[in-house]
Amino acid sequence: MKTILRSNFLNPVNHDKCDFLCDYCLTIDEQGKIASLEPYSEKLTGNNDRIVDLSNSVITPGFIDLHSHLPQYSAIGIGKGALLPWLSNYIIPLESKFSNEQFAHEQSVAFFNEALSFGTTTIVTYCSIHRHATSIAFETASDIGIRAFIGNSLIDLPNEAGYFSSLETIKSDIDFLVNKHHLTNSEKLQYIVTPRYAGSCTKELMSYSANFAKSNDLFIQTHLAENKSELELMKKLHPEFDNYTGIYDKTGLLTDKTLLAHCIYLDQTELAMIQNARSIVCHCPTSNRYLSSGIMPLVDYQKMGLRIGLGTDVAAGYSLSMLNEAKEAIETSKSYDISKDENGNDISAANAFYLSTKGAAENLNIADKVGTIHIGLDADLAIFDLDIKQLSANSEDILRSLIYKKFNQSAKAVLIAGKRVYGSL
Ligand SMILES: [Zn+2]
Repeated sequence: MKTILRSNFLNPVNHDKCDFLCDYCLTIDEQGKIASLEPYSEKLTGNNDRIVDLSNSVITPGFIDLHSHLPQYSAIGIGKGALLPWLSNYIIPLESKFSNEQFAHEQSVAFFNEALSFGTTTIVTYCSIHRHATSIAFETASDIGIRAFIGNSLIDLPNEAGYFSSLETIKSDIDFLVNKHHLTNSEKLQYIVTPRYAGSCTKELMSYSANFAKSNDLFIQTHLAENKSELELMKKLHPEFDNYTGIYDKTGLLTDKTLLAHCIYLDQTELAMIQNARSIVCHCPTSNRYLSSGIMPLVDYQKMGLRIGLGTDVAAGYSLSMLNEAKEAIETSKSYDISKDENGNDISAANAFYLSTKGAAENLNIADKVGTIHIGLDADLAIFDLDIKQLSANSEDILRSLIYKKFNQSAKAVLIAGKRVYGSL
């Protein structure tokens, strides 16, 4: 039986444009794919298909979060201070607890369910250093039905907390996780190679990660230039490199399948490296303010043509809601203008929405499956109650209303490949 959703649809087109389709019918076939999307008419409702009236709702593509940390979920709002002390005082002790498999399971369930509740249907996440906790995250994501890119944090530089592994152990952990989980049970789950950042990795580990990712055609994720003290740490730990980005460039980690979180403090040489490699910048504005890290010049980067998406960066980001992250991207772009006494860097809602959906799908090479609402794509959808009667049919107005009214609220329902994974219809 096919399902027909009668509702209003927001469909991202590009950085400048979002289509708004008022009173349309979307048909989902038995395989969970979008079979049709057309204006409502009486004849559409005359057969035996299941018809759901969502006239007081707005439907968007499921959101895509390019950067998050599953083991940090319970630390949302806990602790303050700059990045490096925050990590050692609050986060590393918490992540160490993931050696306990029951704790790892409980936290994985809570994390993925909360992401789903906010309409996120694809999430890219770091796990702890533990292979079993990471394996549990894969199994939980599979049970819940969310799409995910999951990687164990790769750390081989010794630290006071003892939160690291030898390179030999890391190689064995990666083999175990790739063989067990990468595109095995489901096309929805991918392993992502996760050298945490150059502050916790030896050159050998970074080179190994790069080679492994290349020979297995895997995505890579790491952090770059989030905080000024972090830049100083890089000079101390890796003095043979000219700059921070050069560490990743020279060890082979800068690829067109590499996600680089933060990217706040980069000079023109470093930006050129990222552009040449076609690596992807993950903008995390909520986190960047929470840890007083800085403001990433989003519009400047977009003008350069850098590939960009948004990440919640939980738990330095305090919400798994991508509508919240979209709101923060807009508000932070205004703060940038204020700080520079400039105009014109504030982004549109369409831009923030594109970065949270279609743009992110393109960055993850999954735009042929998800990220927009088009015939033939999987029906990954987020449905929000929203009274649009008082609004004009201008898509920017509708989008702003959705973002600013619903950024801290759960969706009414969420579908992945046509299957309801959250809420009710
Ligand atoms: Zn992060």
